[in-house]
Amino acid sequence: MPELPEVEILSRQLKHHLIGRVINKVEVHSHKLRKPVPATLQEGLMGNEIKSVNRMGKFLLFKLSLGQTLVMHLGMTGSLRFFSTCSTDCHDLKHIRVKFALDKGVLFFCDVRKFGFIDLFNNFPSYLKNLGLEPLTDDFCGQKLFLITKKTTKPIKTLLLEQNKIAGIGNIYANEALFVSNINPFRSAASLSLAECEVLSQSLKTVLIKSIELGGSSMKDYCHLDGKRGGYQNHFLIYARSGLQCKKCDNMISSSVLAGRSTFFCKTCQG
Ligand code: ZN
Repeated sequence: MPELPEVEILSRQLKHHLIGRVINKVEVHSHKLRKPVPATLQEGLMGNEIKSVNRMGKFLLFKLSLGQTLVMHLGMTGSLRFFSTCSTDCHDLKHIRVKFALDKGVLFFCDVRKFGFIDLFNNFPSYLKNLGLEPLTDDFCGQKLFLITKKTTKPIKTLLLEQNKIAGIGNIYANEALFVSNINPFRSAASLSLAECEVLSQSLKTVLIKSIELGGSSMKDYCHLDGKRGGYQNHFLIYARSGLQCKKCDNMISSSVLAGRSTFFCKTCQG
C-alpha cells in the first residue's frame, strides 16, 4: 500500500506536470471504488484549472480554480500515470478506473483491487479533518509522540498505524522505524519513555526521508507517474526480511501478525 513517501513522491511529480493544466474531460470506467465515485465528478471538474497539488497523510489533494478540491487515495493497489501525449504505452495500461484528459496530457487513475477512492469537496470532509500529526513537520517531535503514547496501552506498532494519531505511516515504515529505534512492536505504547519517543520520532523521520530519496517502495503496483519503480524495497532494514540475518546483530529476524498486519522484528535488538 502506498504510504507517506510514495504519496509524497507522486505529489511532487504531479505538481510538476499538472499545475496550470485545465481538465477538459473525465471518463469514469469504474464507479465502484472503495467509495462510489461522485456522480458529479465529470461536471464538477470540467473546465477547472489545477491550482495546486498537495499531500495530507496518504491523500492527494488537487485544488481547483472553481473552488472545489479533488481528493485521491490509492488504497492498496492504486497508481497514477501521466502521459504528455497518449502513445502506445498509454493504450497498454490496465485497470484504468478514471481518465482525466487535460489541455496538455492525460492522467490515469489505475487500481487493480479498487480499494482506492476519488472524491470532490467544497468543505473539508471528516476523513481529512481527523488526520493526525504529519511526521515530517517540526510539529512532530518526541514530546508530542510521548503525549499520544501515554493515552493507550495498545501495542506501539498498532498505534503508529492509526491515521488519526500520526498521518501517513503504514506497515512498512512502522516496522522499519521500530527496528531503527530498538523498540519491540508488541510493547504497550504507554510503556515508552520520553527518551524512547524522542528516538522513535526521529527514526520515523529518518526512514521516511530515506525512502523519499530512494523513490519510495515498489513492492507490487506502486510506481511513479512515468511508470518507474521506487528503490527503497532494496534497502529494507527489517520489513519482509523474516528468516534473514538482522543487519545489527547475527540473529535471525522473526515475524508475526499484529492487528492483522505482518510484523517483523529482531528478538535481540528489539527484545
Ligand atoms: Zn538484531
